[in-house]
Amino acid sequence: MYDPLHDKSPGCGEAYPNSYWANVSGDAPQDDGAISDDIEVDVAIIGAGYTGLSCALHLAKDHGIKAHVLEANKTAWGCSGRNAGFILKSSGRKSYLSMQKQWGEEVMRGIYAEMCAGVDTVNELISQAKQQGIDCQPQQTGYIKVAHKPKMLNELVSLAKLQQQMFGYDVEILSQSEVRQQYMDDHNAYGAIRYQDGFGLNPLKLAWAYQQLARNAGAKIHTASPVLSWHEEKNAIKATQQVVKQVLHTPNGIVKAKKVVIATNGYTPKGFHQLTTNRTLPVLSQIIVTQPLTNEQISACNFITSNVVMDTRALKYYYRKLPDNRILFGGRGAITGKSADDPYYAQRLLAVLKTSFPPLAEIKYDHAWSGWICMALDDLPHIYQSHEQLSQSNVFYSMGYCGSGVSFSVQAGKRLAEKVAGISSPNLPIYQQALPKFPLAPLRRVGQWGYFHYGKIKDEYF
Ligand SMILES: Cc1cc2nc3c(=O)[nH]c(=O)nc-3n(C[C@H](O)[C@H](O)[C@H](O)COP(=O)(O)OP(=O)(O)OC[C@H]3O[C@@H](n4cnc5c(N)ncnc54)[C@H](O)[C@@H]3O)c2cc1C
Repeated sequence: MYDPLHDKSPGCGEAYPNSYWANVSGDAPQDDGAISDDIEVDVAIIGAGYTGLSCALHLAKDHGIKAHVLEANKTAWGCSGRNAGFILKSSGRKSYLSMQKQWGEEVMRGIYAEMCAGVDTVNELISQAKQQGIDCQPQQTGYIKVAHKPKMLNELVSLAKLQQQMFGYDVEILSQSEVRQQYMDDHNAYGAIRYQDGFGLNPLKLAWAYQQLARNAGAKIHTASPVLSWHEEKNAIKATQQVVKQVLHTPNGIVKAKKVVIATNGYTPKGFHQLTTNRTLPVLSQIIVTQPLTNEQISACNFITSNVVMDTRALKYYYRKLPDNRILFGGRGAITGKSADDPYYAQRLLAVLKTSFPPLAEIKYDHAWSGWICMALDDLPHIYQSHEQLSQSNVFYSMGYCGSGVSFSVQAGKRLAEKVAGISSPNLPIYQQALPKFPLAPLRRVGQWGYFHYGKIKDEYF
């Protein structure tokens, strides 16, 4: 599998991975095909996941700028077409408490408001897409955060109280028996908190919906168009002023752009651009989807809910019941792209699923795949325009969602579009600061391996 820490390109026109979503979603809608000639454009966006598509949509709709999106493979070939489809009011891994400690209450509230806006925009776009015949299959709302040990329930209860106080957030506290009787009989659940507004959907259809809305608004989406190399072209106008064009090389044509947005997140190739080099850590998240559960299996597990579920482990597991009664179950995957397809990782998830639901001792999985989430050193996404050098002030990026970007990436794309249009973003660290560099960047994977071992011990013994 493509490995962003080793490979220079994610491929060209590669098929979708053999995921559940690729199997159940039907045919991909039409796009604008590969770049086949040299062109000059105002704005080029690299990457057709949620970030790139949202940026293209908002540029066209809100600012009258018709961008060209360049995607190496197919629309949403990266994370956006292969995630678990959890829509949550969050992104990154940094807690609101630590934001408050570091930046104060106003900033913490500002970031919370941006996360909420992300969910609102996703909901609006889902409705617009439905009117155009694309059903993103949103399920019943509810996000259950499960305590995987009795003592973790105390932490969840404190979190719920804090969120109720700080944001007036509607968070319900559930005892162990309430979880097991009213939602699902998860033997690893020792109580939970439940948010009313998270939900699951079909993530690939969501991306296709964004693509259709963006194209309707005038954006062009070019698939099979990887940016293989990149240089700047400077034209001296006056002694002190320069016009800089970004020149992007794709296999069959050169794209010269006045402005470029990097929307490649965890799939950003090795050494792609100096603005992002050594500032992210791509980490594999693995998913399995089981055979459909029979009615007997559903009752034996009391699997009533189709709410989305995540646990409190340091190395988290997440799951949901899909509309056809299969269970989607996810957690960490391999460390390198080379080992990504080793069935060991899918089998490990299946074994954990069976400890949660013993009546499923004989169940098998029908689909298994993985994808690169994008970790940031400070556990936060950054939506950024470089100000360090004049020649780079026409390059923008958004990345670092740390495995939680389905809803926030749409807001990030909207804010990116504003930046590209010359409108300043809210004064929040996510919009004003660059992604921090990883110290000892060549050793990032050693650090990841260490964290996995720490997490395993913490989750088992503490
Ligand atoms: C298994 C898994 C489960 C997840 N589950 C959830 C979840 O339930 N909820 C949640 O909130 N988040 C989840 N996430 C994270 C979420 O999917 C991402 O945060 C989000 O999709 C990021 O979107 P994006 O557009 O920024 O990046 P991507 O969707 O990864 O898009 C980047 C695109 O850039 C393209 N690209 C890269 N290099 C080039 C190049 N040189 N030229 C042209 N194109 C290029 C790639 O082909 C790719 O299509 C999950 C991720 C994974 C992997």
